[in-house]
Amino acid sequence: MEDQVVAVLEFFAYEELQIDDQLVRIFQTVGEQIGRVLKRRRNQEELRLAKDAADSANRAKSDFLANMSHEIRTPMNAVIGMSELLLDGRLESTQREYARMIHESGDSLLSIINDILDFSKIEAGKFDLEAIPFSLQDSLGDTMKSLGSRAHRKHLELAFQIDSEIPDGLIGDPGRLRQVLLNLVGNAIKFTESGEVVVNVRTVSQTDEDTVLQFSVRDTGVGIPDDRLDHVFDAFEQADSSTTRRFGGTGLGLAISSRIVNLMHGRVWVESDVGRGSTFFFTTRFELAKEQLVAAVRPHLDRIAGMRVLIVDDNSTNRRILHDVIRVRGMEPIVAGSAPEALKILKKATSADTKIPLVLSDVNMPDVDGFTLAEQIRQDAKLSDVVIIMLTSGDRSSDRQRCSDLGIAAHLMKPVKQSELVDAIVLAFGITAPDSDEGEVSAIESQSALRSLQILLADDALANQVLAIGLLQKKWNHTVTVANNGNEAIARLTAQPFDLVLMDVQMPEMDGLEATAAIRQLEAEGRLSNQPRSRIPIVAMTAHAMKGDRERCLEAGMDGYVTKPIRSKELSAAIQQLFEGESRPKSGDSSTATDKSATDGQALINWPRAMQSVENDTELLRAVVRAYLEECPRQVSELRCAITSEDAGTVRRLAHTIGGTMATIAVPTVEATARKLESDSATGKFDNATRYLETLERQLTTLNGILTRFVDGDLDPA
Ligand code: ADP
Repeated sequence: MEDQVVAVLEFFAYEELQIDDQLVRIFQTVGEQIGRVLKRRRNQEELRLAKDAADSANRAKSDFLANMSHEIRTPMNAVIGMSELLLDGRLESTQREYARMIHESGDSLLSIINDILDFSKIEAGKFDLEAIPFSLQDSLGDTMKSLGSRAHRKHLELAFQIDSEIPDGLIGDPGRLRQVLLNLVGNAIKFTESGEVVVNVRTVSQTDEDTVLQFSVRDTGVGIPDDRLDHVFDAFEQADSSTTRRFGGTGLGLAISSRIVNLMHGRVWVESDVGRGSTFFFTTRFELAKEQLVAAVRPHLDRIAGMRVLIVDDNSTNRRILHDVIRVRGMEPIVAGSAPEALKILKKATSADTKIPLVLSDVNMPDVDGFTLAEQIRQDAKLSDVVIIMLTSGDRSSDRQRCSDLGIAAHLMKPVKQSELVDAIVLAFGITAPDSDEGEVSAIESQSALRSLQILLADDALANQVLAIGLLQKKWNHTVTVANNGNEAIARLTAQPFDLVLMDVQMPEMDGLEATAAIRQLEAEGRLSNQPRSRIPIVAMTAHAMKGDRERCLEAGMDGYVTKPIRSKELSAAIQQLFEGESRPKSGDSSTATDKSATDGQALINWPRAMQSVENDTELLRAVVRAYLEECPRQVSELRCAITSEDAGTVRRLAHTIGGTMATIAVPTVEATARKLESDSATGKFDNATRYLETLERQLTTLNGILTRFVDGDLDPA
């Protein structure tokens, strides 16, 4: 074998043997065969060793990443959290400025860490995408809204448009889609000094099962030189060093985005003209959701069908987008590029059959702005009943005052989501808007409406303890007991009852996962101290950001999960979700306690909207509520049965009915819970159904108490 001796074969004969050429050839062939087998074996062995080495290097890399991420996130937790606490307190203006800079730098450092972690996960093949149903309109709309203020600070127009034939319900990974869009639109804003950034979505191809969409992000910015076009997608690459100095960044965003897009079965590319702007394109494939969720919750559109709507905006892209939205929603758009033109059109159309009942106007226009247009409309007696909706890029408090002085029906921040615009129109014409957020209480506000909780905090890091106590005890008025590891946590739990455990995952002696399993075991054996609930809620707090951590925590018996660095909003939302509806009683006096919780709960109902839906007829509202109260217990018990027997159809039907009633009586929080149950059951999943049902039941108990007082005449719609 290649002239190497790899083994020696010996042959023995019992008798005298004549060795001739033929025998030598036979031995030679046998030797060669054995040599080949040996060589194959050795190659296989070498391959196995190499593979083992690669696997273990890969494991080491991902362990290293997980640990690094943990080690970096833990101090970041303190940096971001403590500066948030500082900013909430009393500070001199320079101190405030310093604290704000620490907070902002912490945030940007964290986003770099996240980028590096993402990039390494992709490289290590550990980056998996979710496949969950989502609404393209809502997902893209929310992403764009979150970028609105950044664009408006630079006086850029930010707009988006989704072709009307694209089905809204898709299955895919909305979080990663958002990540790509945030990167591309964020870049577009960063590299544009004046003009506009416009996102467009169109279909490339569609079958009954899936659709391939093409997203484009167009800006009017600095552009990218031809010879750099191909390189911007490489890791750590930036178009040129002078822009790098001007704009900052890591050069990782596009590399990550292009890999995510590849994982979504698409590709990304860019076209650019230096000095005129760039357009980034990407395609992705999404499955179509079985149920198209959105259409179902937006009834009453027929009431505005055919209505003539005047769109006033100096920006032609915005005009075109609004024109299409209005047309697709069955109304008749008319466009004007300036306020004087709009006024001329309105005056001309005053005769009864061509009258324009609604004006959608941009606020920020050159020469004559939107407010001046509104003033001119209000001064003309023939136009006095025109409904005006303003679209604005900056939310100054003086604007709100002007809006109310001028009788402006709604004041929407750009970029406007289609659903938001339609809801505003529907509401402006006195028709119940089913899907608006108005009246919903923010997570932070609700936290203060929660009763005071006994919380056990298991965390070994002092900085985290101080931060958590700062938030939970000092700001939200809960009582916190600290345990430094899992063993201590269990000792505390067996000694005294708690409402909630916040559990760090990585702790010395006994980690959070083990501790949770032990707690669940003790609970099952009835050995925990007398808990207010049969199952104590445990929320994981972890700096781990690797895939599968969430699942591991939930599998270990935890009920919620927040990642470190802890953001007050996220923590508040996690607690809120577990204790929704449990309002804070006043200390001592039990009769005041009931009153207080009733007033807290009363905020659940958007009374003006409820009254609007019955044309301000209190007796009619009482009748509706009475009917609901009669029906409610049966519906809820049927719902409980259907969830137990995993009967998706019935769950959906009942949740839908309850959601609909909640929309009529204008109780957005409860409606949202019912809708969650409804959309979840549409996917046939029951993982969260029981939890939603429990929340729903708690919310209904509070609500029904108030509604009963209302039907009994003890309470007037405030
Ligand atoms: P970062 O923005 O963090 O530097 P990216 O990977 O997101 O990293 O972008 C890489 C480079 O591509 C940027 O530094 C910039 O030079 C160029 N680039 C990206 N988007 C645009 C855009 N919209 N206009 C001009 N240049 C862009």
